[in-house]
Amino acid sequence: MNGYLGKLLRVDLNQSRLWDEALNEDYARNYVGGSGLAARYLYNILDANTDPLGPENPLFFLTGPLVGTSMTSAGRYSVCARSPLTGIWGEANSGGFFGPELRYAGYDGVLITGKAEQPVWLSIVEGQAALHTAGDLWGSDIYATQTRLREALGDPKVRVACIGLAGENMVKLAGIANDHGRFSARTGLGAVMGSKNLKAIAARGTGKVPLYAPEEFRAVTNQILALYKEDFPAQSLRAYGTAGYVNLSHMLGDLPIRYFQLGEYAPADNLSGVDLAEKYLTRNTACHKCVIACGRETRSPTYNDSKVDGPEYETVGALGSLLMIFDLEAVIHAGHLCNLYGMDIISMGVTIGLACELFERGLLTTADTGGLEIRYGDAETVFRLIELTARCEGFGAVLAEGNAALAERAGVPELSATVNRLEVPMHEPRAYLGMAVTYALSPRGACHMEGDMFSLDLGQSNLEEVSLEPGDRHDNTIEKGRTAARLQAWRNLYNSLTLCQFENPGVRPLLAAINAATGWGLEAEDLMTLGKRIVNIKRLMNFKLGLTKANDRLPDLLLKPLKEGGSAGYVPDIPTLLAGAYAEFGWDPESGRPLGDLHL
Ligand code: SF4
Repeated sequence: MNGYLGKLLRVDLNQSRLWDEALNEDYARNYVGGSGLAARYLYNILDANTDPLGPENPLFFLTGPLVGTSMTSAGRYSVCARSPLTGIWGEANSGGFFGPELRYAGYDGVLITGKAEQPVWLSIVEGQAALHTAGDLWGSDIYATQTRLREALGDPKVRVACIGLAGENMVKLAGIANDHGRFSARTGLGAVMGSKNLKAIAARGTGKVPLYAPEEFRAVTNQILALYKEDFPAQSLRAYGTAGYVNLSHMLGDLPIRYFQLGEYAPADNLSGVDLAEKYLTRNTACHKCVIACGRETRSPTYNDSKVDGPEYETVGALGSLLMIFDLEAVIHAGHLCNLYGMDIISMGVTIGLACELFERGLLTTADTGGLEIRYGDAETVFRLIELTARCEGFGAVLAEGNAALAERAGVPELSATVNRLEVPMHEPRAYLGMAVTYALSPRGACHMEGDMFSLDLGQSNLEEVSLEPGDRHDNTIEKGRTAARLQAWRNLYNSLTLCQFENPGVRPLLAAINAATGWGLEAEDLMTLGKRIVNIKRLMNFKLGLTKANDRLPDLLLKPLKEGGSAGYVPDIPTLLAGAYAEFGWDPESGRPLGDLHL
C-alpha cells in the first residue's frame, strides 16, 4: 500500500490486549485517512446507544498518506470518537511531530477500545507496543507528562500525545496535547481518553513511509517547499502567527466581541499579532517539515510565564475580545492555563463568555457560582474559572459541561453560541455569510476548520480547478451556499490527508504529491468526489447518532444583525444558503440525507 504503512495497532484496554491489524485498503482508497478513514471504520461500530464516556466508545488516532514524508506541513494526526460534549461525530486534529513519529514507529493509526482498570500509558517503539502503569503520572500536567515519558523511554526524540487534569476528570471540554502545547482540542476527546484511564501514547521509530514514485514525490515536494519561501500569507504567518489576522478581522467585523454581541470596539486592536510579536514572542515554533513556522512561544512577565505555547488567533478571540479582555499578557496566561490542564480554548472561552452574559443579565448570581462575580473584562476571574473547570470543582463542574448545557440550565437556550452543542469559533458568520453554511453543516458542530470561507473570500486564488474562487463575503445566494459546500468538501479532504490548512500549494501540486505517494492516478475532480464522500459518511453517521435535517441551523444569537463594524446589518439567509449547499452535495431536499454512492 504505497503511502501507507498498511497497519493499525488495536488496543483493548479491558483485557490489556494489543495486536496488529491490516489497514483496510478499500477503505483507505475511498476515504483517504485521518477523520475520513476513521469515519468509515467507525460507521460500522458507533450507534445511538454508544456511551461517549463508556468503554465501548472507540477512540481512533489516524494519520494520512502524506504524513511523515518530505511533504511540508504533513505532520498532523486526527483523533475521532463519539463526542461526549456534543453526542455526535467527534473529531479533532493536531500538528507537531506525533503523527509522523507514529508512522515511523510502524503504524498508520491506533484504535483503542475498553477501559483500563488502573491508569496506564501506551508506548509504541519500532513496531513494538506495550502498556505501562501510569502511577503518579496521573495528575501531571501535559508538559510534565511529555517530559517524563521521554525520560522513561530514555530517548529525547519520543513524541507524546497525552491528556491533562481536564481529560482525567472527564471535563467535556478536554483535548489531547502533543509536542509541547499543540492540541487535538475540539469535541472533548480528551475526556474520552480519560474515561479509558489512558494518560498518554508515546511513539518513537525510524521506519519510512513507502512511496509509489519516490523521485517524482521528492521533486514535487521540493517545488511546494520553494513556494512557501516567497508566499505572502506564509511570510505573514511566520512573522505574526495566526494572531496577525486580528486587526483585519476586527476591521471586517469577523472578530467576535462581548460574546458575539458587539461588531466593533477600539481596544480590540490591542490584541494584535504585531504587538504580540514585538513585545512577547520568544521564538517561532514549527511542525514537521514546515517552513512557515506559524507557532508562537511567548512570555507574560506579569504572570511569570516564560515559555507559553500560543496564543493563536482563536485564543486571542476566545479568551480576549469575546470576554472583553484586551490585555495580551492576560490572554497569554489564560491560554497557558488551558494548555497546562489540557482544555479546548475555544470551548472554554465561549462557555465563560456565556457565564459573563448570564451574570450581566441577572440570570446567574453569586448563589449559583459559589460567590464568584463573573464579569466581562475580569481576567483574574477567568483564570479562576479555568482552574475550577479543569478540576470540576464548584461552579467549574457546571462549566465543564459546556456552553449549551449552561444555557439550558439557565433556561435560555437561545443564548447558546453553539451548533449541535459545539462552541462557535472566532469567525463571525455575519462577516462571511458562507461561514453560516460551514457552521450549520460541519459534521462536528460549529467548526472553522471544515470550510474557511474567510480565507477564500479574502482572496485565496489557486483552487479554480475545483471550482473554488473568491467572492463577495456578504453574498447571500444559492451560489454562495454551493461554494461553501465545495470548500467544506475540500477541507474535509485536507483533514483526511491530515495536512495543515495553511499549506495551500494549489490543486495541481497537491494532486501530483498524492499520486506520486499512492499511485492512485487521480484527476482534479476526483479530489472533490473524495471530499464530498467524506462529508457524506460523517453526515450519515450523525443521522445514525440522532441528528436530522432540523439540526442544520445557526444559533439565534448569531442571526441578529450587529449594529456596528464591518458586518453591521448583515445576517445569513439560512434557507437560501443551505438550499445551495444541499444541491451541491446532492442531498435529498426533504430529509437532508446524502444520496450519492458512498462505497459502503
Ligand atoms: S503553518 Fe503552523 S500549524 Fe501549519 S504546519 Fe506550519 S507550524 Fe504547523
